[in-house]
Amino acid sequence: MQVRNPRTGQFDYEIQPLSAAQLLAQCARLRQGQTAWENAGVAGRIGAMQAWKESFLRHRDAVIAALSVDTGRRIESVLEADLLASAIDRWCRIAGELFSERENKPSAVPFIEIEQALVPYPLVGVISPWNFPLLLSIIDSIPALMAGCAVVVKPSEVTPRFMVPLQASIDEVPLLREVFAYIAGAGATGAELVQNADLICFTGSTTTGKKVYQAAAERFIPVFLELGGKDPAIVLASADLEMATSSLLWGSVVNAGQSCLSIERIYVEDSIYPLFVQRLVEKTQRLRLAFPDYDSGQIGPIIAAPQAGIIAEHLRDAVAKGAKVLTGGQIEQHGGGEWCFPTVLVDVHPDMKVMSEETFGPIMPIMPFHGIAEAVALANGTVYGLSGAVFAGTNEEAISIGRQIQGGAISINDSALTAIIHEGEKTSFKMSGLGGTRMGPAAIKRFMRQKAFLIKNQPVASPWWF
Ligand code: NAD
Repeated sequence: MQVRNPRTGQFDYEIQPLSAAQLLAQCARLRQGQTAWENAGVAGRIGAMQAWKESFLRHRDAVIAALSVDTGRRIESVLEADLLASAIDRWCRIAGELFSERENKPSAVPFIEIEQALVPYPLVGVISPWNFPLLLSIIDSIPALMAGCAVVVKPSEVTPRFMVPLQASIDEVPLLREVFAYIAGAGATGAELVQNADLICFTGSTTTGKKVYQAAAERFIPVFLELGGKDPAIVLASADLEMATSSLLWGSVVNAGQSCLSIERIYVEDSIYPLFVQRLVEKTQRLRLAFPDYDSGQIGPIIAAPQAGIIAEHLRDAVAKGAKVLTGGQIEQHGGGEWCFPTVLVDVHPDMKVMSEETFGPIMPIMPFHGIAEAVALANGTVYGLSGAVFAGTNEEAISIGRQIQGGAISINDSALTAIIHEGEKTSFKMSGLGGTRMGPAAIKRFMRQKAFLIKNQPVASPWWF
């Protein structure tokens, strides 16, 4: 299978998707290793994960280099690598506390006490997308490993290069390499994985998510879905305009807007709308494409070629329906790659694709609102409910509006914070996902079944017996 390079447009890399038999053999190997991994206890697993962190740091430059070729951008690749190292430390701490010895609990019956145990699912399958290939392949894998599961990851076929140096870092840790593997392949391999794992964590489009959900239902296995978004931001007149414009510029166009949690719709209180638009345009025009070199600017290429077509179609549809482009607005080919200039759009309305469908590009459509009820109705006028942002003069005022937004994570006086902050527990609302939180301490509980030992502690006859 040929892999395209997003900076050159050349197909300069190849992967060999696993056959069904190879996948089955890999899953059997990992299942076998899982028993020792579980029996190693939390202290053994913490030791192995810390050893992985050390070996990852030795391979860090190679992982960043491969990831940069996969995605065409470097700033975000460094961020992904740094988040991996900090995630290992965080989960080691959380797992240590979760598995600490607990006293038995009394029950309602004086001579029966309860001992609780946690039983990991043997094999977790992680299926991940191309927009943050490393981060989204480890965000569920690390807590699953800490819980005592074996994990097999099938990253996107669009961005597979980083797997090789990453797997090399895993292979340096004897206990870990028996339970943690990356496999190459596209949708068919992902579908095959759903047939073989005991639990699936899927991150990707809502369309594919539905297929995964259906296939998992047939096998009666749990599935956690993290899907698309169309995140809104609401800016009140009381907000700090400089802060709001700088934050929203980052939250909308970082990673060239190719983030599920990108701000894709900006609603601004009408009294400050002209000034807001002017400042955002000024700041947008300071950004540069990261071409010809990684360091030439902040905006990388569109990673997956078909996405450039979707962004272009949303821009075309918006302009045809009356939207005005104040800066950007075009997709250009440079060096064989597809590049989209950060774009500010005004005179937009909810019927445009750019205001209703996931664009996944560096596009900032801005719409004025009059009154909070209107802002909330506009923000909630979507099938998605991933996250959002509110800017106001006080955090209290912003939170009171955030409570009314149907989404699992609302950044207050900043935007897209779930890209960086992974400690808050959140679930995806509406068509943006399904299942328990992937962030915060509770995320690890998704990977374990609960078992209760109901223990008679006195040799007495139970009064309910015949
Ligand atoms: P995609 O749905 O096309 O592919 C995602 C993964 O699923 C890939 O690894 C692919 O090979 C695999 N796949 C395809 N068909 C499959 C099948 N039938 N069974 C099992 N696996 C299959 O998504 P994409 O284009 O790679 O990623 C972009 C999408 O991901 C966007 O919609 C974005 O919003 C979403 N996303 C969501 C989050 C989140 O946390 N909610 C994070 C990042 C990206």
